[in-house]
Amino acid sequence: LKPRIAQKEVTLHILKTFGLHMSKKLGQNFLIDSTVVDGIVAAAKVSEGDPVLEIGPGIGTLTQGLAEAGAEVTAVELDRRLLAVLSKTLAGYEHVRIIHGDILKIDISREINKEKYKVIANLPYYITTPIIMKFLEERFPVELLVTMVQKEVAERMVAKPGGKDYGALSVAVQYYTEPEIMFIVPPQAFIPPPAVESAVIRCTVRSKPPVEVVSEKLFFRVVKAAFAQRRKTLTNALKGGGLNKETVDGMLSEAGIDGGRRGEQLSLTEFAAVANAWAKRTS
Ligand code: SAM
Repeated sequence: LKPRIAQKEVTLHILKTFGLHMSKKLGQNFLIDSTVVDGIVAAAKVSEGDPVLEIGPGIGTLTQGLAEAGAEVTAVELDRRLLAVLSKTLAGYEHVRIIHGDILKIDISREINKEKYKVIANLPYYITTPIIMKFLEERFPVELLVTMVQKEVAERMVAKPGGKDYGALSVAVQYYTEPEIMFIVPPQAFIPPPAVESAVIRCTVRSKPPVEVVSEKLFFRVVKAAFAQRRKTLTNALKGGGLNKETVDGMLSEAGIDGGRRGEQLSLTEFAAVANAWAKRTS
């Protein structure tokens, strides 16, 4: 057994051996707490032979945990300097393939050509949400995503109607998946420690959406308009979204929704009712 990379001394030793300076620009904060690595592997329910796409392996900290749990890992790393490091730190793990590239640019389906796979990522926080949304919207054959995100973002993803955290991100994530906050991760679990608390979130992809939507395009247009100006009533927010008052009033009355309410109070079912009433008008 190799020593675990998720330890401060081991990580510092690797950085020193390779003369590596971490890149702030690429959001490089490496995990140094093996309980967090184990928690992520457990959250992803990894078992022998599971295909896993790991995004941003860094020096291989999480990759090692995944490989030891028996996953067949395809890991995509953007920082070219890390390729030589990874080939050393992960030497001996047979079922690990490292690819150099930007996850937002590579042809993902070509690199991981599996019927179903899991996505695991500890990425720079500014690109985590766009990456999660890309996998969901483009309907890659992913069964679950386990990612490290800023704690506030995790709270927004799982938020229910009525609170300040509930927004377009909550609706979108809950439309495609069942999100759960698995555990909170303190800054000291990384070097260098980030300025914020983090959370590991598991999004289990639904086999079908929880609400029936005639047009997804209209559904997300309604959601976007409703939250674009969240202090406005639904009627005014939808009017701001480019519809005239008559259409808005007609749609809302057909959907059985009081236009004086605010978007932040609407459930997915209610958003779907509004969007379906709109779809009926445009068909
Ligand atoms: N997984 C390691 C860990 O947990 O210690 C490293 C995490 S570090 C927060 C994020 C990693 O993602 C860095 O190695 C960075 O170079 C890589 N990265 C950043 N942007 C990327 C992108 N667009 N595609 C692939 N990897 C990226």
